[in-house]
Amino acid sequence: MLKIDAHTHILPKKMPNWSEKFGYGDFIYLQHHKKGFAKMMRGNQFFREINENCWNPELRIKEYEEFHTQVQVVCTIPVMFSYWARPMDCLDLSKFLNDHLAKLSEKYPKHYVGLGTVPMQDADLAVKELERIKNTGLKGIQIGSNINDDNLNEEKFFPVFEACERLGLAVMVHPWNMMGEKSMQRYWLPWLVGMPAETSRAMCSMIFGGIFERLPKLRVMFAHAGGSFLPTIGRIEHGFACRPDLVAIDNNVNPRNYIGKFWVDSITHDPLMLEYVLKMQGSKKVMLGSDYPFPLGDLEIGKFIEAMELPMEVKEDIFCNSVLEWLDLPKEDLIK
Ligand SMILES: [Zn+2]
Repeated sequence: MLKIDAHTHILPKKMPNWSEKFGYGDFIYLQHHKKGFAKMMRGNQFFREINENCWNPELRIKEYEEFHTQVQVVCTIPVMFSYWARPMDCLDLSKFLNDHLAKLSEKYPKHYVGLGTVPMQDADLAVKELERIKNTGLKGIQIGSNINDDNLNEEKFFPVFEACERLGLAVMVHPWNMMGEKSMQRYWLPWLVGMPAETSRAMCSMIFGGIFERLPKLRVMFAHAGGSFLPTIGRIEHGFACRPDLVAIDNNVNPRNYIGKFWVDSITHDPLMLEYVLKMQGSKKVMLGSDYPFPLGDLEIGKFIEAMELPMEVKEDIFCNSVLEWLDLPKEDLIK
């Protein structure tokens, strides 16, 4: 069975020192301090150490063989978004990352499918870059769950979504810049509590803001099985019903109606939760994801799904059909 991992991150091995190039800001750069490892530096601050499987495409393909997974959908690491930078500088950086992703999918067409990044802080520049990346063979973009703390329903972001729908590019929404991060540093809470809430924040903003009503053909995937959105849909729907004066001000469609119209990945680390997500979404809207190569990811690439007692058609939907539909990618393009 063809297995496609819809949620993985990659970086180019070498990147310019953007802070030096632009003369300001804590941009990310890599210090290759010992063989097989690099330090991600944020300005002069150590951010995290990464392994060679973060940048070496052949090593990654080899690591995936153990889990019988042929294809990786690759995008950058959210900390690279740089939405806070001057728009032209963010465009420059985005182009560098997008060209790297495009070259990767060109060189390994059966193993890598790329999702780009765009300067969301400037919709005009973002739309221009979308038009450019459409021609490079990237299948969509990854965006943050908020843009410098602004929610995705803000009118200024609408042209980006509109262009994605027009160009047939898929959108992956990834949590980042977590709410409450500063006040809950201990116990890795931004990752354990903030991230699932961020994804729900993005989903509620897009639903209540009417984005899906205005752009019915827009294909969006939310990371980490939609974070806390699906588990708290009862509360969200009840809030919509009991306080429409607060909730239904821009869109009067019940939020539950959107379940199954967007996609989510399978990153739950919990078969029981995945069963619930499948029940809610339908198997055609749930896709294999791992968050490889990071430790909070499902680094056995869906092994727990293989062990679940699910009909073969359901597994096939999760492992390939859903992601192919989300990316509007013919299966033949990936089969050897
Ligand atoms: Zn991720």
